[in-house]
Amino acid sequence: MSKFLKLSLFAILILSLSAFLAACGNSNTEDSSEDSNASGEDGESGEVNLYTSRHYETDQALYDTFTEETGIKVNVVEGSGDELIERLNQEGESTEADLFITADAGNLHAASESGLLQPVESDVLNGNIPEKFRDVDNEWFGLTKRARVIVYDKERVDPSELSTYEALTEPEWEDRIAIRSSSNMYNISLLASFIELNGSEEAASWAGGITNNMAIEPQGGDRDQAKAVAAGQADVAVMNTYYIGGMLNSEDPEEVKVAESLGVFFPNQETTGTHVNISGISMTKSAKNAENAQKLMEFLSNEKSQEQFASANYEYPVNPNVEVTGLLESWGEFKEQDINLSVLGENQQEAIRLFDQAGWK
Ligand code: FE
Repeated sequence: MSKFLKLSLFAILILSLSAFLAACGNSNTEDSSEDSNASGEDGESGEVNLYTSRHYETDQALYDTFTEETGIKVNVVEGSGDELIERLNQEGESTEADLFITADAGNLHAASESGLLQPVESDVLNGNIPEKFRDVDNEWFGLTKRARVIVYDKERVDPSELSTYEALTEPEWEDRIAIRSSSNMYNISLLASFIELNGSEEAASWAGGITNNMAIEPQGGDRDQAKAVAAGQADVAVMNTYYIGGMLNSEDPEEVKVAESLGVFFPNQETTGTHVNISGISMTKSAKNAENAQKLMEFLSNEKSQEQFASANYEYPVNPNVEVTGLLESWGEFKEQDINLSVLGENQQEAIRLFDQAGWK
């Protein structure tokens, strides 16, 4: 190798190393975020740091639009809800995160109980998000709604046989139900809603009745319950609708086939309504870019964002001014449970106790 070539290689190495170090320094040191705090009078600068358990391209597109409109850069850290709560706990006051987005009111409640969040007083948020989808102390706000429904095999089940969650505990459903484990937060929140609506005793007998009627031991996620029904292992499953949307639009033809074989049924239309949960956003207790963070929260609740934010994952918008289209429209309107979702967190421990008592794995 010529001396010149060696020198050039060395120079390239040094240049890329310094570029790399500069990039690292930019994204995650406390100093950089404080320097770029939106302290300017116009507020149109700086950045905001977001931890999120959502991982959809459309979410990123929304953050990009927000940056274009406000000049505020959005730095995103993705992880599972549990991981991010753990990380927030460990980082404590020194956390970079200004905002935390995760699924399930139960998880948001857990973050709140751990003292990780702070209340946000905003007329914009209160105007865009119905009260029942907001924390009573304003520590979290729903962004998208998810309906937990009954799906059924179109060949083996006629929808006229279906009515309520409670009816699935009847003997005619013995060995016919697929539903995931009781450690799953979606199920904990579902049972928590029944405790609120029907009382502990009825909730306990529901958990016992479903456990008796399970076709298979709980395993896997909601998609796996759909697959179990399509494979003939069960006739109905309790699951969130957006997984059906995801599978219908999947690149995997097997998943499309599974979803096409299933019907979606919204239970309890004549009684207490279908169980609805949320994915939601919260401001961390130690947010260093609180002003920017609130702007992003408000932006995500506006009609234009809500349309995109919910449709990315076939969820329902929380903003009541936004109409659903396409697949969601085809499933039709439905009556949802009329409870404030804060109770899902409040009844969490009781729900876990009832599941254990029922022997639901
Ligand atoms: Fe999910």
